[in-house]
Amino acid sequence: MLNMTDSRQTIYRIRVAVPVHLYDCFDYQLSAEQYQQAEIGARVAVSFGRQHLTGVIVEKLAPDAPIDPGFQLKTISSLVDDQAILNDKVLSLLSWAAQYYQFPLGEVIHAALPVFLRQGKPYDLLAHVWKVLDLNAEEKLKRSEKQLNAYKILKLHPQGTSENILNLSGIETATLKAIEKKGVIRCELEQQDFSPEPVQLAQLPLTPNHDQQKAIQTILKAQNKYQAFLLDGLTGSGKTEVYLQIMQQVLKQGKQVLVLVPEIGLTPQTISRFQSRFHCNIALLHSGLNDSKRLQAWQHAQTGKASIILGTRSAIYTPLPQLGLIILDEEHDLSFKQQEGFRYHARDVALYRASLENCPIILGSATPSIDSYYLVDQGKLTGLQLNQRAGSAIMPTMHVIDSKISRKQHGISEPLIHEIRKRLERKEQVLVFLNRRGYAPVVICESCGWQANCPNCDAHFTLHTSPYTHLHCHHCGTINRLPDACPQCHQQTLKPIGIGTARVEDGLNTLFPDFPVLRVDRDSTSRVGSWQKIHDQIQQSQPVILLGTQMLAKGHHFPFVTLVAILDIDGGLLSVDFRAPERTAQLIVQVAGRSGRGEKKGDVYLQTLRPEHPMLNTLIHQDYRAFARQMLADRKLASLPPCRYAVLIRCESRSQEENQQFLTDMTQQLRLSTEENLIEVWGPIPAPMERKAGRWQAHVVLLCSDRAKMHFYLHRWWPQLLKQKPSSMKISIDVDPQEFS
Ligand code: ADP
Ligand code: ZN
Ligand code: ZN
Repeated sequence: MLNMTDSRQTIYRIRVAVPVHLYDCFDYQLSAEQYQQAEIGARVAVSFGRQHLTGVIVEKLAPDAPIDPGFQLKTISSLVDDQAILNDKVLSLLSWAAQYYQFPLGEVIHAALPVFLRQGKPYDLLAHVWKVLDLNAEEKLKRSEKQLNAYKILKLHPQGTSENILNLSGIETATLKAIEKKGVIRCELEQQDFSPEPVQLAQLPLTPNHDQQKAIQTILKAQNKYQAFLLDGLTGSGKTEVYLQIMQQVLKQGKQVLVLVPEIGLTPQTISRFQSRFHCNIALLHSGLNDSKRLQAWQHAQTGKASIILGTRSAIYTPLPQLGLIILDEEHDLSFKQQEGFRYHARDVALYRASLENCPIILGSATPSIDSYYLVDQGKLTGLQLNQRAGSAIMPTMHVIDSKISRKQHGISEPLIHEIRKRLERKEQVLVFLNRRGYAPVVICESCGWQANCPNCDAHFTLHTSPYTHLHCHHCGTINRLPDACPQCHQQTLKPIGIGTARVEDGLNTLFPDFPVLRVDRDSTSRVGSWQKIHDQIQQSQPVILLGTQMLAKGHHFPFVTLVAILDIDGGLLSVDFRAPERTAQLIVQVAGRSGRGEKKGDVYLQTLRPEHPMLNTLIHQDYRAFARQMLADRKLASLPPCRYAVLIRCESRSQEENQQFLTDMTQQLRLSTEENLIEVWGPIPAPMERKAGRWQAHVVLLCSDRAKMHFYLHRWWPQLLKQKPSSMKISIDVDPQEFS
């Protein structure tokens, strides 16, 4: 009798991370049978307010756990998965990240799933596959436009297309069945095969040089345990070869390797370097994939079918049952930091993940971040250096041109024009780097000094000349017509000031009419395949001028480039952001590294108004490492990150006063609740661009040398801030911010 009463009263509950912008997880009731089935890390359908959402089970509450009497317990709608899709390790990683970066766990988990799984679609979404049997059936289907259309789509995929995917693109199952009756297509139930695929070495490793050998040996000693390495190797010193040889050993043990690369680093060239060394299943995870490709790659990674997982920042959250090694290439690259919404740094998350999974991690770069050098000093990273270029190439020579004293044509100084001509005549290639899109960054009236400024931002309009002439604000997207005459004095004396890539392109075409100028930036390569075309042209040994922005700085191998010209880095030298010199130095070294990678030695010319700048001098007369040492010493003196931990609160509202008042009150509350002098508070201060898209921006920066204590107080303070802010105000928190804009 007693037992029966007990079981009637038992309420089975699970705790669910729901994708809503709230910091709690929510408890739901379910039947005893469902409770038995429910697995932590599996999805569950629940209602939340009036919404129907897909959440993930994060806890099964003990049946006798106390119940909050004031809480109206809801029942789940259904269990979506019969098995966990996120393993314990990834769940711990996600909860840690949510805590550390002060973001709701439900949203963090949601973002880590492929889109179809977020939407509550079944895990075996890709199982029903439709295939074409008759390749010439247009005649048979011509009377139904619907059927003909579906057939045409099916014909594009000879391997077959999953029914769910077809449904999602608007093709109904009924239509497919009707075509099937005509004997044109067939449906197959494909049991998805998630068993691990074999790994074969497809190409012999190169014989490592002395430095490579030393790095490989040191890292291999750390197999099957956590140790973090910084592979600090000059551009072209063969870091990738080191990765490949270590991967070979890890893959041999049946383990998976996660390789993270910067956003624009995931080019066909990068992918093929891994593919040509190893024959195995490589899962590619990046933002350019469509949802079904992404789901498939994710599942291959998550089930262990794929041995190599090659992805951009968010791939760090992929469940990997056999993870044995993490590699994060170009670790200094800013694209590892997510700058909006859930602001996290994939490098730091990767370090945490490697320690959770008990595996080694390699951070690699030719220009390591000051943050990583600091970790080497603290003994948290093991530093390894590659000091020579691999093969026969040697490092290029750097030269500085004083732009104040040299005459210029089209923004390019005459000595530089002379050097460019010399290279082209020798049938070599030239790379001209300018990190500014458009034609000119400023338009000014020469008669009265009027400037074309964005009405919504504290910023100049950029002048663009293609596809048509217009003014464009790069901060809020506003587009205006270029007036014929000055709106203030009505004279026709408007003049573009400064140079952008489009203007330099015109100039180079005028100066060197016999040589092709290939422009590489977001405006010129947005069309699919256009970058590939340019890339192929560069790989042939014809003299060309390559002109571009950041896109050209990253990891590319241009064997025929012998001269790199960097036109304007003065913005980076003068910026107020304490990280600006670091970024500028990295950019210079990375761009310079594109020169002289083949048989001929390279040169680099830097055109600047500040040839005497101490940073430039350290970089040029010593090297990047000396520069980084100097930077780190400066940061120590000023107690700036990484020597203290920083948090940036960004606040945006309709007025300066509103920001000021709110942030002043809130920082006062923080001061009162923490130990004296524990957290240094800067601000409220206006953001570097105070008005952006018509709204006012203000910042508060918190600095503290005790990370644990800082987080302790943040956990209490940040939710208060969110509760108390006026509804018209937006605030966000950025833990370990990389940019102060
Ligand atoms: P990094 O990644 O450091 O910029 P890469 O791995 O791209 O350098 O290497 C640059 C070039 O040197 C590549 O063409 C690579 O094949 C070659 N290379 C690397 N290691 C060796 C080696 N041990 N012997 C000969 N060539 C090598
Ligand atoms: Zn004027
Ligand atoms: Zn604007």
